[in-house]
Amino acid sequence: MAFALNTYPIIYRAKFSDGKWAGEYLEKPHKTQEEEAAMSEQEREKLENSRNCYADMPLVNYTSQYGLACFEGLKAFPQKKGGLAIFRPDQNAARFYRSMEGLCMPPFPEKIFLEACVETVKRNAALGFFTRYNSSWEKDSFMTADSVYIRPFTMAEGGIGVNLSNEPYVMVINTPVSSYFSHGSSDSAVVTDRIRATPKGTGWIKACSNYVISALAKSEALQAGYMECVFLDATHRKYIEEGSSCNIFFYLKSGELITPELGDTILPGITRASIIELARDRGVKVSERKVSIDEVLEETKECFVSGTAAGATPLSSLTYQGKKVAFNNGKVGEFTAEIRDTIKGIQYGTLADTKGWMTSVI
Ligand SMILES: *Cc1c(COP(=O)(O)O)cnc(C)c1O
Repeated sequence: MAFALNTYPIIYRAKFSDGKWAGEYLEKPHKTQEEEAAMSEQEREKLENSRNCYADMPLVNYTSQYGLACFEGLKAFPQKKGGLAIFRPDQNAARFYRSMEGLCMPPFPEKIFLEACVETVKRNAALGFFTRYNSSWEKDSFMTADSVYIRPFTMAEGGIGVNLSNEPYVMVINTPVSSYFSHGSSDSAVVTDRIRATPKGTGWIKACSNYVISALAKSEALQAGYMECVFLDATHRKYIEEGSSCNIFFYLKSGELITPELGDTILPGITRASIIELARDRGVKVSERKVSIDEVLEETKECFVSGTAAGATPLSSLTYQGKKVAFNNGKVGEFTAEIRDTIKGIQYGTLADTKGWMTSVI
């Protein structure tokens, strides 16, 4: 499984009370990574479950009852020269702060967020829990490469009446992860008629509740034989917004790269911002603007989705109201491949980090 939960033993947990944050690192039950790999599936499941349980946290709370929470997702990449480095964690710290503010929670200080991300990875690695660089990943442009996934998230205090969270927890867990999309290197998408986000809603926040509709739409797309679904805007039902949990780009026949402009229904992806910067560096005209489904179906040469999990993943076709349009004859396009390989190269340390995007952990 590409994205199965196998929480590493060291967890960070902070709680806001009496007007301040107090944080701690917890060490959950574990053996060595090798011993755990050698355990029977049943035994390992039991151990992993015990790492995922917190007897001292309230089960009935505004998160479990009403979906009030937000999260982040970032990765520590094994480096070609050895060690691990995290991609742009300062950006995740800033977005987490904005998300918590957007949900009217006391925001988590960016400096403590950064420290907790670095420290959990470092402490888990010291116990032997990390992924090692494998030069065979270079052969397929890191399509099958592993990394350490870092998942910071909020969890509300106990309560039953509908309410906001004034004294939330912030947790940071690590789990190993390999490539996100399980299908081939390029695959098909379908426009869903579900609506992910509405104006004045929470679409711009990395809010847990946004994922309910995404998961429903993605499941329908998978059942219909597609790899991904694409959302249109709620008002006009005409402009492209996002994939199920990733931003989306279209490389037009004219040589222009376009992606939907940010607003309150679109999640401001860090991969998205990085791709825009890399494309502009190459002299490509990049526009953040409204992108209509008609323009996409007529003018697109290549298409890809972007995100921490997806990297830059090409889409081979898009189906809208039963009509399928293939991009680049269904093959991975040159521009998409170049962007994908550049990002992966910077992340795994096979290309120079000229932007200062990588934060070394060990
Ligand atoms: C997290 C997320 C993305 C991608 O953001 P990155 O910072 O690039 O990982 C895109 N869309 C949605 C809805 C998301 O939740």
